[in-house]
Amino acid sequence: MSAPVAPRQAPGFYRFELGEFEIVALLDGSHPFDAANLAVGAKPGEVAERLGRQYLASPVEGMINAFLVRTPTKLILIDVGAGDLYGRDGGLLETNLRAAGFDPAQVDEIYLTHLHRDHVGGLMRGGRVIFPHAIVRVSLEDASFWLDDANRAKVAAILGPMFDGAEQTLQPYIASGRFKPFDGDGPLTPGIRPVVAPGHTPGHRQYLVESQGQILLIWGDTVHVMPVQVPDPHIAIKYDTDPNAAVASRETALAEAASKGWWVAGAHISFPGIGHVRRVGPDSFEWIPVNYSLNRIAP
Ligand SMILES: [Zn+2]
Repeated sequence: MSAPVAPRQAPGFYRFELGEFEIVALLDGSHPFDAANLAVGAKPGEVAERLGRQYLASPVEGMINAFLVRTPTKLILIDVGAGDLYGRDGGLLETNLRAAGFDPAQVDEIYLTHLHRDHVGGLMRGGRVIFPHAIVRVSLEDASFWLDDANRAKVAAILGPMFDGAEQTLQPYIASGRFKPFDGDGPLTPGIRPVVAPGHTPGHRQYLVESQGQILLIWGDTVHVMPVQVPDPHIAIKYDTDPNAAVASRETALAEAASKGWWVAGAHISFPGIGHVRRVGPDSFEWIPVNYSLNRIAP
């Protein structure tokens, strides 16, 4: 038999109901993450030991997830993946959005958690504007930081490309008047409000999505390496602009999500990146992934 060898998995989308909203996790790609060398504040051997408990080793494959929220009146996309900026490890968001039954032209608003390349890059592919009608929103702090070249000198060298990525992919949206940064944490649309969670970037935001009493915290890069940073939230990574603030934001989010039983959606947690967190110690948590359902489920 000479069956062809396929290079990819199934289409990457996963949908579920949150009250009267529909949430669709969309996979942009996956990317090896050098957790052992990028960790900040870990004890010697700790990263390898924690990964080993889940039969993983560094570099560990991390997802690039984005999340579509369909409210009764709008389609809102939270983060857009890496687009062309991670080579063949990313760029599947548009394909997976279409596979899930949506057209990128239907997206009304895009809320970015922050302006790193793997969250903003998907606004463009091959010089093409992917979301021709969407308003693009991000915190004012992130917009002013990453769109000002003078800040390059203030960050580690590995963050340099983030300035180029933000500038290149946002430029057409800025030029057409569709880039609208926001201040603070007031609701952006009924049922979705930003949560101030700085550290990974100066203006990193999570988004709290609520419908009919059901709550989902879309937490962006609050956690990069789930097997390491959920059991030990003190471990930061070299991509954090302010590691101490990132640790504090992570501890707050984990504690609140665990005590309130919220659904959580993470950008780099194994697809679909949706689950719950449970407290297992004074400052330690575990991740419980959503149970797969073939049919659209109301959790
Ligand atoms: Zn990221």
